[in-house]
Amino acid sequence: MSQRPYPMSPEAIREEFERDACVVRDGHFVYAGGKHGSVYIRKDILLSDTRRARKLVVELGRKIIAADLDHGVGAVVGPAQSGIIMAHRVADYLDGMSDWSDEEHRVFAYYAEKEMLDDAEVFRLRRDFPLAVKDRRVLIAEDIVNEGTTARRVVEAVMLAGGTVAGVVALWNRGPHRQIVLPMPGSARRVEIPIVALVEEQLNAWLPGRGHCPLCDADVPINISLGHGASFLKGQA
Ligand SMILES: [Zn+2]
Repeated sequence: MSQRPYPMSPEAIREEFERDACVVRDGHFVYAGGKHGSVYIRKDILLSDTRRARKLVVELGRKIIAADLDHGVGAVVGPAQSGIIMAHRVADYLDGMSDWSDEEHRVFAYYAEKEMLDDAEVFRLRRDFPLAVKDRRVLIAEDIVNEGTTARRVVEAVMLAGGTVAGVVALWNRGPHRQIVLPMPGSARRVEIPIVALVEEQLNAWLPGRGHCPLCDADVPINISLGHGASFLKGQA
């Protein structure tokens, strides 16, 4: 039996996403950032299947290398919690490109944790992780990128610790952005960080409420079992 059915076709990649109802369509969902949309990706189920996770990350890894984003990368950082799995998977893939005796090209995995700073949500590297990424070239790994808000906060955390971010990598970039643009600390220049995803199909997301979201306009009931629908409705009551 073949252990390496790679490269996978775009259709085979999509089949992996669709299997086990990981992609739920024709609903009315509330996403983490508050926007509404009709498609929900169940990333918990997606990554629980370790063989699927491995297949998809191998394909993502090929894309990272093709985009030359792996060059000189010594660490991959993901946002807790699901980004921890992604960071580890991606780091393991990149580390596996070199021989075990090769100490120079090792790739480590770390994670950033959410915290509140003056009522704003930020991500921080804790433990010894800031030292570990300092002066290193780093990739940020996520499962699904929506508006890129979380990715941007993790980029900021790594930059604050003195790391250089080479790119953001994800299984699916469902948002409108193909890069993250940030002001460079202590300079008038801007940093442009590419987002490379295995699937780059954009899915609609609208501001909540009538006049913004066509599903709200059409009185489609909000899904309360997936996403943030239950707390959205609670906030409206
Ligand atoms: Zn809506």
